[in-house]
Formats: sequence, C-alpha cells, structure tokens
Amino acid sequence: MTTTPVPTHLLADGTALPAVGFGTYPLRGTEGAEAVASALHAGYRLLDTAVNYDNEEAVGEGLRRSGVPRDEVRVTSKIPGRHHAYDDATTSVKDSLHRLGLDHLDLQLIHWPNPSVDRYVEAWQALVDLQAEGVVRSIGVSNFTEAHLTRIVEATGVTPVVNQVEMHPRFAQADLRAVHDRLGIRTEAWSPLGKQRSPVEEDAVVSAARAHGVQPSQVILRWHVQLGSVPIPKSADPTRQAQNLDLFGFELTDDEMDAVSALTEPDGRLFGGDPDTHEEM
Ligand code: NAP
Repeated sequence: MTTTPVPTHLLADGTALPAVGFGTYPLRGTEGAEAVASALHAGYRLLDTAVNYDNEEAVGEGLRRSGVPRDEVRVTSKIPGRHHAYDDATTSVKDSLHRLGLDHLDLQLIHWPNPSVDRYVEAWQALVDLQAEGVVRSIGVSNFTEAHLTRIVEATGVTPVVNQVEMHPRFAQADLRAVHDRLGIRTEAWSPLGKQRSPVEEDAVVSAARAHGVQPSQVILRWHVQLGSVPIPKSADPTRQAQNLDLFGFELTDDEMDAVSALTEPDGRLFGGDPDTHEEM
C-alpha cells in the first residue's frame, strides 16, 4: 500500500489538485464501490466519475466504505451533452450530488462540448453560478478545443481551471497544453496509458522502465507527471492501482522524456474522438 501522499498542483482558483487521479469508467455496482475504496486505501485522493458512467452511486459508496475523510478527497463529475441547457445543467449537477450522496462536488466538468448542439456556453454559465452558490468548489471542462475555451471565457469572463482531454504518448497534445499554459488551465489526461494503443512495448518505454526498475505503465504515467498533466488511470486491480500511483520515487531524464514524446502521432486518438465532431449525449 502506498502511504506517500500524492503531491498536488495549485489550481488557478486556489484549490489543490492531486497530481494523479483515479478513473472510474466502467466500474459499477458493488465491485465498482470496492475498487474505489481500494484506490482510496492505496492513496488516491482524486476521483473521476460522470453522469454517463452510470456509476456515481458506486463512487459515493466506495468513498464512504473507504473511511477516508470526505474533505481529503476531490470528487469530479461531468455534465452530459443532453444536459447543456441552463436549467438542465443545474439539475444535472444536483442529481449527481444526490447519487453520490454528497453535499458538494470538488470539481465539476462539462463532459464534451457537442458543438452541433451549441449550448455549452449555457452549461458553462450554469457551472459559474453553481460555484458562486457553493454547490461545486471548482469548475472546468473536458474535451474543449482552444476555440471552445475562448468562447466560454469571452462569454462569462470565467476561465476553467481544468480541461480533461485525451492524452497519452500516441497523442501528446503539445499544442493544446501550450494553450492551457497560457490560460492558466491544468491539463487532466484521460486514457493516460493509451489503452489498445498503449506503447508499453515500445523501446522508449521499455528501456526507461529497465533503467529505473519500474513497470512500463509507470514510465508512461511518470511522463505525464513530468509534463505537468494529471493522469487519471483506471484499474480494478489493487496491485495495479498502487503501481499507477507509485510515480514519485524516480525521475525520467530529458532524453527519456523526449523519446516517449516522440511516439506521438498527428492523429493518434484512440477512437477518433475529435471534439469538433464527436457527439456524446
Ligand atoms: P486508462 O486508465 O489509460 O486504461 C485503463 C485500462 O488499462 C484498463 O483496461 C486497465 O485494466 C488497464 N490498466 C490500468 N493500469 C494498468 C497497469 N498498471 N498495467 C496494465 N494495465 C493497466 O484508460 P481509461 O479508463 O479510458 O481512462 C481513464 C479514465 O479517464 C476513465 O476511467 C474515466 O474516468 C476518464 N475518461 C474520460 C473521458 C472524457 O471524455 N472525459 C473519456 C475516457 C475516459 P484493469 O482495470 O484490469 O487494471
């Protein structure tokens, strides 16, 4: 079990975000609750769920079962595309809280911009207002491009503190991360290990793993950490959960970082999830 506390990033709104989080899709039901409790025992203090994962009850149950004090954990949820209208977005967040059994969310995101629907500005305004009411502590977005970010900032004057996007060595998101740096947005990385396109067998990853006496998956997650992005790996297995958090006892060299970054491809996305066209309601 990892007992070393995970370092945190200071977000632009003054709150702290753990440098590694726990992804919960597609964990559900009793097994899902057990996996969440086990992750919290391993030392995770950032949980990632969404209305569309159909597991907010399990995540809340896992949090209670773990016995970890509520105020030590940052719970994230996400509004789905079908809830972008202002009133629907407000209700969606309150329904998430009900399912989670919590009185506030620590980080609330808009899951996808769904530009064809063109109501993400309304959804963002709802989050701005819910933050003012104290229902959510921090607000951010997911899968937003520079154009989507610019639009919500210009419309409301409020910049998201986080943009959770697809990011792994096959799709390193250098341009978008530069936009985030300019705007003061922290990058969170979904599918951080690269799933079916995982580069665990690539020389760049295997040789760094050998050099540091760690697993290839730890090299990939450490690459995220050194780039300043927050990976949110999912694992149902307690051993892999602990391994995915054990990233702070070694450091990749500049050459090792460059070699992993060189695995990126112009369109290295896993399933063509381009936010300009991908619809997820
Ligand atoms: P991931 O965390 O990169 O990969 C998960 C897969 O890798 C699982 O099959 C898991 O299997 C396996 N795995 C985990 N640790 C491992 C290790 N140390 N060694 C070998 N295999 C390992 O991908 P993801 O689940 O797609 O993304 C993570 C989280 O991001 C999701 O759970 C979700 O919370 C979030 N997400 C957000 C969006 C969005 O649109 N915002 C989209 C996708 C995902 P085991 O469980 O068997 O270990």
